[in-house]
Parts: sequence; C-alpha cells; structure tokens
Amino acid sequence: AEHAQLLNKSTNALVSFPTKNHNPNPHGPLSHLTVAVKDNICTTHLPTTCSSSMLRHFTSPFDATAVELLKAKGATIIGKANCDEFGMGSLNVNSIHGPVVNPYQSPDEKHIPRAEREQRSAGGSSGGSAAAVAAGLCDAALGTDTGGSVRLPASYCGITGLKPSYGLISRWGVVSFADSLDCVGVFGKSMDTVKTVFDSISSYDPKDPTAATPHTRERAKALAESLLSTLDANLSDPDLSSLRIGIPQEYFPSELNITIVTAVRKVLERLSSLGAQLIPVSLPSTPYALSAYYVIASAEASSNLARYDGVQYGTRSPLLPGVDKSKPGNVYAHTRSAGFGVEVQKRILLGTYALTADAFDNYFLQAQRVRQRIKADFDSAFRVPNAQLSNPSPNPDGVDILLHPSAIRSAPRLDSDAVSGLGPYLQDVMTVPASLAGLPAVSVPAGSAADGWPVGVSIVGQWGSDELVMCVGKVIE
Ligand code: GLN
Repeated sequence: AEHAQLLNKSTNALVSFPTKNHNPNPHGPLSHLTVAVKDNICTTHLPTTCSSSMLRHFTSPFDATAVELLKAKGATIIGKANCDEFGMGSLNVNSIHGPVVNPYQSPDEKHIPRAEREQRSAGGSSGGSAAAVAAGLCDAALGTDTGGSVRLPASYCGITGLKPSYGLISRWGVVSFADSLDCVGVFGKSMDTVKTVFDSISSYDPKDPTAATPHTRERAKALAESLLSTLDANLSDPDLSSLRIGIPQEYFPSELNITIVTAVRKVLERLSSLGAQLIPVSLPSTPYALSAYYVIASAEASSNLARYDGVQYGTRSPLLPGVDKSKPGNVYAHTRSAGFGVEVQKRILLGTYALTADAFDNYFLQAQRVRQRIKADFDSAFRVPNAQLSNPSPNPDGVDILLHPSAIRSAPRLDSDAVSGLGPYLQDVMTVPASLAGLPAVSVPAGSAADGWPVGVSIVGQWGSDELVMCVGKVIE
C-alpha cells in the first residue's frame, strides 16, 4: 500500500480513494478486478469533481450505469482518476488536481531515480485513468473519449485503450461534455482485461436517450458475425487471410514523427505475414475533421455547461465586496469566471459564438456537413454496412478494419511547447474522425519511437464491430 501511495504521488493519477473497500458482491465475475474511474463519471462513494473548481465539493447521489454494473459484478473501485477539466484537453494538464505524470520508464532512464527522470504527459483527457493502469495501481480503468481522450493517453502510456461504438455503453451518470461524441472507454494492460470490462458494461440502458437499442446491437452483431467466425485470434498461430485491412493515406500527415511510421510498418509486416491483405484507402474528408470537431464539441459544451450557475449546480463563488448581490447576473458571472479554468472558458466562448445567429451557418452547420462527409467516407471504405442506417448496402470491395498510428508522436514532455498554444489540439488529429462518425477504435501498444517511448496503433471498425476491432488488436499486442 505504501508503494502504491508513492507511485500515485509521483504520477498524480488518482485524486480520491474510498476509506474502506466494501464490495457488495465479493464472488461476482469481476471480483478479481480493481478499477479506477475517471473523475467525470458519477460515483456515490467518492466525489466527482471533473477536475474543476466548479464541482470541487460535488458528490453524486447516484452511480453512473457503467459504475453500477461494475460494482454489481464484484469489481472493486479503487479511486477516482485525474483528468482534464470536464474532459477538455489532450495532455491532462488542465486540472485543479495538477498535471498527470506519465509513469512509463524508458529503458535508458531505468537507473535514474523516479523524481529525477524527465516528466512527460500521460496524455489526456483521461490521463489519470491511463497512468493508474500503466503504473499498476489497478487492473483496468474507465475513461471517457469525446475526441480521443482514451486512445491518446493509452498510446502515450503504452497500454490498451478502447473507445467503443457510440451508444454501446450508457452515458447515464457521465458528466456531459459534448453529448453527440461522448463515449465511456476502457483501459487495460491487455486486450483480455479491456474486453472483460467492456462486455460487462456494454448493455442497453433506457436511462440514456442515445443508447443503441437491442435491435441495432443485434443487427450490427449479425453483420460482423461471418468475418468474426473465420478469425480466431486466440490461436497461437492466427490465420488472418480473410481479413482486409485498410491503410488510410490521409493518416500519415506531415506532422507525423517519422519513427512512429517505422513502428507502424513493423505491425503491418507482422499482420501481412499472418495472411492479412493490406489495402491503401482514401478518406478524403479527414483534413477537415479537426476543425469540425472543435466547432461541434465546443458548441455542445457551451450548452451543457450553462447549467453551472452557482444556484442549482456548481460551487457558488462569494461576490467581491461592493458587487451588488441583488443582481442574479452578478452571481452567475462571478461563479463562472472563478469556477471554470481557462480552457473551459475558451470552449464556452467559442461554442457560444458558433451558435449565434450570425455564425451558425458558417461554423456550426458547416461542421455538421463535414461530419456527414466523414461518416460517408468511412461507410464507403468498409465492406460491412452501417447497422444504424435504415437501408444499408454492403460494399464487397471494402475493407474490414482501418489501421493507423494513434498519435503523431510519443508523449511530449510536460515542459515542452507541445503543451501550450495549438500543440494540444494537434494531438487529436488521428483520433477525431472516428469520434465524429461514432465508430469503435482501440489503441494498442506497438513498440517504441526513437526516443524509447511508447507508440500506439489504432484499429477502427464499422459501427458495432467492437469485437472485431478488439480481436485484431489482440493479435497485435
Ligand atoms: N482533446 C480533445 C478535446 O480537448 C478530446 C477530449 C476528449 O476526448 N474528452 O476536446
């Protein structure tokens, strides 16, 4: 326990812990698992701060559905994990709890005491969840992924991170950032752990209005079935000859660090030696994804975060002397200026602007059009049709999965340029397209970059083919 405390102190991964561990179901199927939960997912036994001063005193009166399911199956929740404020960020540096430090030990640094090693970002926004798993503080962790917040930290910390298809895991009890993009995701050191947790929490929940219905789930499962049954990744010698892997050319932009390409190439060579067919594909709308994402995510955030008024929700900030208390606007403005960090305020302003009558067409609607194109790009790339469409048509020349680097680089140092300015926004360039299209994507470790730090590759599939995506990920890890 002392060792764990020290580890947590050096990584800053977990921000609250239960005083006693009461497991209501010690013989449940997950009773062997310890799980950390991102601090924007509601728990009754621990605070849910969203790393925001606004919620620093908040404890939820109910558990999120995902947490309730884990507890009911016997998992032990060991603590709440640090994150970027309301999930806004890529490096877990926007947090009232302070930044998360990546626990990875590069081979050349093993002999240096931990406190003297270079401090790198664990990625974000679910950096605490990823760091807790990577440091061995727990077996698995829940995060949320709106534009890459599970896949990016998984890649930077050298572990596996799944963003499931949108709508498969209930968002009930998950503090909303951008509802049309938010997904609960899972971290683990192995795909088996990730899959066990995913299978336990992926079920229809009538409390989530955007949950995928049992009918759509069944339909997606039936569509993916034939391919899955021909792949058996559990064999020590998997045969991938029925698998068509698409390599999207737009995912090798000029910002991509060259040593990442080397690591990805090794993965491709291995998959090809197991029989997989590698097929170059084009997803032409990809270059517009990042701008569309930040318009849509900020617009939805500005609406969601309007509820923190210091009256019904959020910590009310005391008014400065001389300010007129009788004007409710003063309470509201002061509470929001004091309670939200700089990044959150930036998004609220940006999102509010995109939704004003003057800007709506040029920004919000335009971003929605880009989103439709991104979805259409993916639908024309995949062999299996999208089960969410009313009359899906199959595409015999399509691919089964797409494979690309998870990030443009390895984890940046916490004191580097990548942490300020536009740096953090660029980190998501590979991950936002799958978010806009609601597709399943998993980042798995794929060796290291020239600096010795972990590199992740992402496998992306058609909506609902989460099992296939995990199956291919397992072959790679
Ligand atoms: N980095 C992205 C953002 O800041 C994604 C965050 C997320 O997925 N929660 O919005």
